[in-house]
Formats: sequence, structure tokens, C-alpha cells
Amino acid sequence: MPRWHDMTTWRELQRMSRREQRSLQDRLLQRYVREYLYPFSSFYRELFDRHGIAPSQIRTVDDLRRVPLSTKRDLLPTPDDPQRFKRFILQPDPATLKAAWPLRKKLPLLWMKWTHGAAAVRQRLREEFYPSFMTFTTGRSAEPVPFFYAPHDLANLRTTGARLVDVMGLHSEYRVANVFPYAPHLAFWQVFSAGEATGMMVLSTGGGKVMGSSGDLRAISRLRAEALIGVPGYIYHLLRRGVADGIDLSAIKVVVLGAERVPPGLKRKIGDLLALLGARDVRVFGTYGFTEARMAFAECPTPGNEYTGYHLYPDLAVFEVVDPKTGEVVPDGHDGELVFTPLQARASCVFRYRTGDLVRGGIRYEPCPHCGRTVPRISSDLTRESSLKDLQLLKVKGTLVNLEDCAMLLGSMPEIEEWQVELRKKDDDPLEVDELIVHLALRHDGEREATATKVKEAFKGRLEVAPNRVEFLGLDAMLRKIGMETEMKEKRFVDARPKT
Ligand SMILES: [Zn+2]
Repeated sequence: MPRWHDMTTWRELQRMSRREQRSLQDRLLQRYVREYLYPFSSFYRELFDRHGIAPSQIRTVDDLRRVPLSTKRDLLPTPDDPQRFKRFILQPDPATLKAAWPLRKKLPLLWMKWTHGAAAVRQRLREEFYPSFMTFTTGRSAEPVPFFYAPHDLANLRTTGARLVDVMGLHSEYRVANVFPYAPHLAFWQVFSAGEATGMMVLSTGGGKVMGSSGDLRAISRLRAEALIGVPGYIYHLLRRGVADGIDLSAIKVVVLGAERVPPGLKRKIGDLLALLGARDVRVFGTYGFTEARMAFAECPTPGNEYTGYHLYPDLAVFEVVDPKTGEVVPDGHDGELVFTPLQARASCVFRYRTGDLVRGGIRYEPCPHCGRTVPRISSDLTRESSLKDLQLLKVKGTLVNLEDCAMLLGSMPEIEEWQVELRKKDDDPLEVDELIVHLALRHDGEREATATKVKEAFKGRLEVAPNRVEFLGLDAMLRKIGMETEMKEKRFVDARPKT
């Protein structure tokens, strides 16, 4: 159910000046470090001690610069610490709690103990801290890392769910089709929680793997869903299938894309398909979130579906932008890597965490020109810095290729319906040279030659590697190849080089 006091806070936050937001963040940050992070997180307590930082030195957002950045590597298991993720979980014990918490926080607990007994106090602390829900980080090659939520964090997930619905301006009477895969991933549960928080009607199909795309389409059409939410690649597939099957999706008013970057041009491609399905003036939104944040952010509506930036919640997190090479904070509006610090997190907590996401145009602090909210906005122009986050940098023919760039390049070309990039060794001989093959299904088959040339040129220009071959397939064969309805995540990159 909606937590109305949160919505009041949210209404105030959207009108606060930057200075007021900063002073709120300073206050929250100070408390968070002194009363939660330092006393209860073994990883960060050690980090602070090792660098001679006293928690009392972190008084303002600017003081964050004293704290070294942490990365995904810090979370990964090591031979002597296979369960390293546990060191990031806030684990209060009665002694540290007594020492670390001020009277303002201890008195209510003492009162509770006196009136309701020690068991009530234990229950109250359990609701704040006990890891009771988990998701995993996803990556193409990196080890998945579990991230835990305490009931306190699940309440926050409902709060951000309600705020997402508000930023996107969704009508509370809308029926929502959630086609994210059922998985221990943030995207699915953020939508589920948004439904819980707002009372919107949500149908979660689990995506193509559970009911099949035809099953999904029939259910969405019968429900006359106004909002469709899912992974960009699957939403595109679903709508294209809807056109082929003659399904009526004319009720759709909103499409929300999440869990993956939205290639430039995809919003328009989705809009074109929706027009064929009889749905006009559809708003298409991008969202941004990641496992470690345990929350997501959205763009606001504009008539032309512009990329308005992701509207932040300044009371829940601080974002900084740093130079990815030096780790130094860059001036406002400059490009750099996003660094995340939560202000109200429990269970698994990261602090000054390098997201591995590179943002062009940084964070904007002036009021949004579209909705007028004064909350900061992360530029919609995000790419993943592969080596840091997903380790999805492949060495091809001696050149490092960023798979994210590759996905953006192919995903934004209007003539391409579906694609896959395959790496082989020439003649499958491990000692031979690498071969890069791009498989494509086109919108119009007559454009093969022109598209092959365009793709080769674009690869050379942007990735500095030219494909050896561009091969063409029919759409159905291509969908089977990438496992559109059988895999949790489409197989966009296949490394078929024999392991040496
Ligand atoms: Zn806005």
C-alpha cells in the first residue's frame, strides 16, 4: 500500500532547491556513516580504518572524496574469502549498537523493551536489518554476486516503485503488463513493488520463456493493458510478433524499457511498430537501475519521447561523476563514470561504488525543462564501461572490443531487425586468427549488400575491428539462433573460439 508520508517527502523533494537538497543529503550521509555503515559493515569499517578516516570526518557530500572508491572486484570471492559479499552486509550486534547509536535512537528501543519486552526489540531490529530477500548481479562473464534486502529495503523498493510511476506520469487505473523474466533481478521486482505500492493492476507474464510470446500477446490483448514494461529487445520482438499475428494492442499508451541500455533510435522503432498495432501517441520511457542500487530511475514524459534523463531521489542516494582513469570527481555536466552512495540502505551496502556506467553529459542539476522537477537527472546517454562492471570486453584480433558499443551500433540501425555477433577461429583451429562474423535478419531482404557495407564501415569506424563476414538469415531462424523465447537473456554475443 502507498506509504503516504513517503509521497509527501517526494512532493517536497521535487521542489527543493539544490542547496536544500544538498543540506538534506549532508545530514542523511553523516548519520548513515556514523550510525550504520561504519559500525555495522566490516568491509567499510576496515577501509575507513586502513585509510585513517574517522566516520566523524564525513559531514558533507563533498567529504565523500576522502573515501576510496569501491568496485565490483571488491565484492567478488577470493580464495581466502569465498563469501566476501557477506562483508558488505550490515550486521549489528547489541554491543556495537549500544556504542554506535545515539540516545535519540536508543531511547525508543529501551522504551519498547520496557513496555513490550526484549523479543519485541529483537523483532524491530530484525525488520530493519535481517537479510530476507535476495537478487543477483548479472554479467556475461563475471561471477554473480548476491545482494540482500532487509524488510526496510523492500519498503524502499516500494517507495521507489511509487516514485517511478509518478515520474512517468502513469495513471493509477492503468493495467500494466510486466514482461520482465521471472528472475532474482532488480527489474522484475521493482515493477512488482511498484504495483504493490500504487495498487495498479499488474500482470506479470514472466516474459517469453514462461508463456511464449503468443501467450504473452494474447494475455496482454485480453487485459487491454495500457502499459507494457520489459527488456528493450524482448519488447521489440513482442510488438513485431503482434503485428505479424494481427493482435490488437491498440490500448497501449505507455512502453517502459528496463534492465538494458536503450540504443538510440530504438524508441522510434518501437513507436513505428505500435502505430501498426493501432496504438498512437505512445510514450516510450527508458529507466536506469542496477542490482547494487536496489532501486531504479526513470525519464519523464514528453510528446516526442525525448531522452529527458533519469530523475533521481536525492534522499535515497548520492551520485557522483568521476574521471574513470583517475577516480577524481569531474565538474558538473562533464562526462565520466557514475559513482553511487546510498543514504538509507540496510542489508547489502556499497559505498562510493563505481557503477561501471559511463555517462555523457554527466548529471544535470537545473530543473527539468519538461516536468519542472528540481531533482538531479542523470543524462540518458549511458554506456557500460565493460572492463569494470561486466568484464564484457573481448579481445578480437588483438583489439579490445566493447560489446556494449557493438550492441548500441547494431541495435540502432533501422534496417536491422535482429542480430548476433559470433567469434570463431579460422577453420576452428585454436592457433589460427580470430574471425568476427555478424549475423543479421533484415527488415527488407533487398537491402543485404548495402547493409553489409554499412555495418562493416561502422565497425571499422567505431570499434576499430572489421567483421570478416556479414551473414544473413530469415527472421525466424535468427530468433531461434539468439534464443529469443528460450533463453533468459538473448544470445547476442557468441564466443565460439576453442578454449586454449
Ligand atoms: Zn522531467
